[in-house]
Amino acid sequence: MNIFESALSQIKKAGTSVMIDPDMIARLSVPDKRIHVSIPVQMDDGTVQIFQGYRTQYNNARGPYKGGVRFHPKVDENEVNALALWMTIKCAVANIPLGGAKGGITVDPKRLSQGELERLSRGYSKAMYDLIGPDQDIPAPDVNTNEQIMAWMLDEYENIARHKLPGAFTGKPLALGGSLGREAATGQGGANILRYLAKKKNWTPQETTVAIQGFGNVGYHGARLIQDLGYKVVALSDSRSAIYNEEGLDVSAAHVYKQQTNGLSGFPDARDLKNDELLSLPVSVLIPAALENAINDDNVSNIKASVIIELANGPVSNTADAVLAHNDVMVVPDVLANAGGVIVSYFEWVQNKTQQYWSEDDVHHRLDSLLFDAFEDVWNVSVQHNTSLREAAYIVAIKKIVDALALKHSQR
Ligand code: NAD
Repeated sequence: MNIFESALSQIKKAGTSVMIDPDMIARLSVPDKRIHVSIPVQMDDGTVQIFQGYRTQYNNARGPYKGGVRFHPKVDENEVNALALWMTIKCAVANIPLGGAKGGITVDPKRLSQGELERLSRGYSKAMYDLIGPDQDIPAPDVNTNEQIMAWMLDEYENIARHKLPGAFTGKPLALGGSLGREAATGQGGANILRYLAKKKNWTPQETTVAIQGFGNVGYHGARLIQDLGYKVVALSDSRSAIYNEEGLDVSAAHVYKQQTNGLSGFPDARDLKNDELLSLPVSVLIPAALENAINDDNVSNIKASVIIELANGPVSNTADAVLAHNDVMVVPDVLANAGGVIVSYFEWVQNKTQQYWSEDDVHHRLDSLLFDAFEDVWNVSVQHNTSLREAAYIVAIKKIVDALALKHSQR
């Protein structure tokens, strides 16, 4: 089963359990539009290399398409489709008026110079020009893309349009219409989710230990903000290394160390682990914040955490998810746990459209309010239907999307 097929099986399962019209599930089982482009880029040595770029516009029943752009060697159509489907579900769970999309380029950006990366980013924006825009489809950062890349893409877009349209991209630098609080928003949302869950479980921060896989945008800000709430972050990892101290790590110092040494290995006051060992630590909460399928058939039986908060998209395979459920490991699904990013992207888009800019405090309060409501909705549905939080999140989302679709297709 490829990753898109496994994403589809989540839709079908939730649809069947609450008896959604099968025609509607069939409608939700195919993306609206799949775009595949070739992007020629002039390399620094004078040669021209052709890169493959993708954008899947999955569903816009509830609002313009919305979703990040990923730069990674493993990007392909199936991955982009799955991520676009999850975005559709996520926006509906968060109850924001946006649909779902995702994009990507098959590339290892670490092998490109800054100039090559800029030309590639501009090439993507140019190739997608007709299909994206503030009321059509709004890209944002994802793995290996950041505010600088959004700035290049927006500049290319506005040069072609010949007018200012800052709402065409989110995750922009502040100077170009970005929102306060956007960079840390996904991690902030993850920290909020841990706070809501701890309340349900009567956990105190001091007795709750957390291990986080992935130390990029989401993992770093998540770790930092979770530590700020008083929880003990005992383990961190990146693609090459992992570190552990059962008394707790200093997340900010680890971040500085990673910037200086390009890794986590050898960090003072911590023990080096093999990368995969982080997943099997005896912690209260495990947070995958790297890539898909981190928890799979090969390692699921080693998991000792009692809760998994999915800050990455799709970090638990379907079969591993069933094993976790059987072992009473609670999983807060990606479509809820990492929704902080798209919620603040939505705020950025609203600010661009209204030309009124909010304080960081305002952004935090609004994020807390939307995410808390989404968490309560999902929690209550899971209690009511006696389902996992994942299935509950899909039920909440599919009902909203189907309501919107039905209103548009009353002649069906
Ligand atoms: P990023 O590129 O900033 O960071 C990714 C991190 O994962 C890096 O530290 C990398 O070293 C690490 N990594 C890769 N393979 C690993 C492995 N095998 N073990 C441990 N670490 C590994 O990307 P990001 O923006 O932080 O995104 C991370 C995840 O969060 C992705 O699944 C992404 O789709 C999801 N997400 C991101 C956002 C956002 O706002 N950026 C929003 C929602 C979801």
